[in-house]
Amino acid sequence: GFKEMQGDVIPRFVRVNTLKTTVEDVIDYLKREGFTYQGTACRLEDLDQLSGKSFLCDLHLKDVLVFRAKMDFHNHFLYKAGHIILQDKASCLPAFFLNPPVGSHVIDACAAPGNKTSHLAAIMKNKGKLFAFDLDTKRLSTMSTLLLRAGVTCQQLANQDFLKVDPQSSEYKEAKYILLDPSCSGSGMVCLRDEALEPQEDKRLQSLAAFQLRCLNHALQFPQVQRVVYSTCSVHSEENENVVSACLQQNPGFRLVHLLPSWPERGHDPFKQCLRANQAKTRTHGFFVALLEKCSPPREGEK
Ligand code: SAM
Repeated sequence: GFKEMQGDVIPRFVRVNTLKTTVEDVIDYLKREGFTYQGTACRLEDLDQLSGKSFLCDLHLKDVLVFRAKMDFHNHFLYKAGHIILQDKASCLPAFFLNPPVGSHVIDACAAPGNKTSHLAAIMKNKGKLFAFDLDTKRLSTMSTLLLRAGVTCQQLANQDFLKVDPQSSEYKEAKYILLDPSCSGSGMVCLRDEALEPQEDKRLQSLAAFQLRCLNHALQFPQVQRVVYSTCSVHSEENENVVSACLQQNPGFRLVHLLPSWPERGHDPFKQCLRANQAKTRTHGFFVALLEKCSPPREGEK
């Protein structure tokens, strides 16, 4: 039906797991298997031309490859061996923007099933500390499997409510980077988009937004925090710009970073620093990303 047709036009994005391989090696492997590499995409429309076994490097993210919609890699060697991660491009943005240095201490607040955690580990080259929390036991055990397959070793998983993690604990005294991808309505997922609005939708959004704001405020309490990425797969401003707006009002020591000027879809006014993603403008699921950074206090002599 109509829903299926819409699903068809989101390409298959694949993130190369640089903990186990390189983009060049994956491209060579696929070429030997009869795939056709067409180089790096130049425009959004290049993605619409993909068919059969042809593929591209993504326009914005160099570790992401793009294939036609529904290309199935679940039984492919590269997937089973953890060399590639099946992850929508939009969901690769949070770790890409947080960009924690090799050796840093990082918190992934709501981490399961862990695709963003494994991306963070790849950026950190498995060096440093990656504290990952999730409330859901089952999702956390899926996550352990996924991280094992991806060769992640710098993580410390905890089945814990992030809101109850003590920012003053000496464990986190060096944590400067936090990724917060909390539970959301999921309204950006293309397959869910046409679901009839539930009667309780408004209340549900309000309670999700209240939770998201509490999480974001909590993230800013860690004493050494410098950068926090906030993301959702929701299209509702209640869960996106409104959460960021309330948080900034309550935490004047933080400001938004202007993300990737060449990205075509921005946060709703006045939050142009933030990014949105959707099928029409970015060929991805619906998504929102904001990067908050601590304002540095004026140095002596500059006051
Ligand atoms: N970042 C994950 C990834 O990329 O694979 C997806 C995270 S999903 C959007 C949100 C997660 O938050 C769920 O796994 C849920 O169990 C978890 N969660 C919900 N409330 C939480 C809380 N208070 N503390 C920690 N995790 C929580």
